[in-house]
Amino acid sequence: MTLFPELVSGVLGESIIGRAQKAGHVSVHAHNIRDFANNKHRKVDDTPYGGGFGMLMMAPPVYDCYEHVHAEALGELGENAKIRVIYMSPQGKVLTQKRAEELSEYDGLILLCGHYEGIDSRVLEEIVDEEISIGDYVLTGGELPACVLVDCVSRLKDGVLSDKKCYEDESISSGLLEYPQYTRPYEFHGKKVPDVLISGNHAEIDKWRADEALRVTKDKRPDLLD
Ligand code: SAM
Repeated sequence: MTLFPELVSGVLGESIIGRAQKAGHVSVHAHNIRDFANNKHRKVDDTPYGGGFGMLMMAPPVYDCYEHVHAEALGELGENAKIRVIYMSPQGKVLTQKRAEELSEYDGLILLCGHYEGIDSRVLEEIVDEEISIGDYVLTGGELPACVLVDCVSRLKDGVLSDKKCYEDESISSGLLEYPQYTRPYEFHGKKVPDVLISGNHAEIDKWRADEALRVTKDKRPDLLD
């Protein structure tokens, strides 16, 4: 649910998530909250009570949009579908790989994107199960955070990546950062690929990768080892 659906569908219509949508592994719908404005100028925001800077998104169009999207989701996913409503917000818990894994167990996610100064608190109290932030900084809107969440959760769904191994070995997912990787050419600017990787000895390669993952993690993110 957003005031800028093109921002979302543009980003998520490309590359791996775009292909996953075409193949039917995930389905993403961007709904325009403005379509639910109940006035002739399609106005969806107003000044905050008590004064202060900026505009606030009004409760009624957000609520009406939610009711529409929720009904549509149940229609598509079935009456007993497990659905979670998430407000993308700098006030939420910061997204982690573990939370993305938990969210990938839901049948559907309804993501609410704020804009301007945010959204009238009363509608948030009524419809939101959880707030999620993508980091301790403030953006102009929830659309990029929603794309981040959709990307991160979608790649965990069956069929989106070619093999589960693709994300199990990856930085953070495995608990460590990933080992360095190389592809052709064998030599680049005088630097050769480590001998072990062309040795054909898979036990040695696995050991080298495990040692390198530990070394890289110690070097770049020692906090993960704690
Ligand atoms: N006035 C709000 C506050 O202080 O909490 C911030 C509003 S922010 C300028 C506008 C919208 O961007 C928010 O409603 C939220 O949807 C989104 N947003 C901004 N930063 C975010 C972040 N780090 N993570 C997730 N969403 C964010």
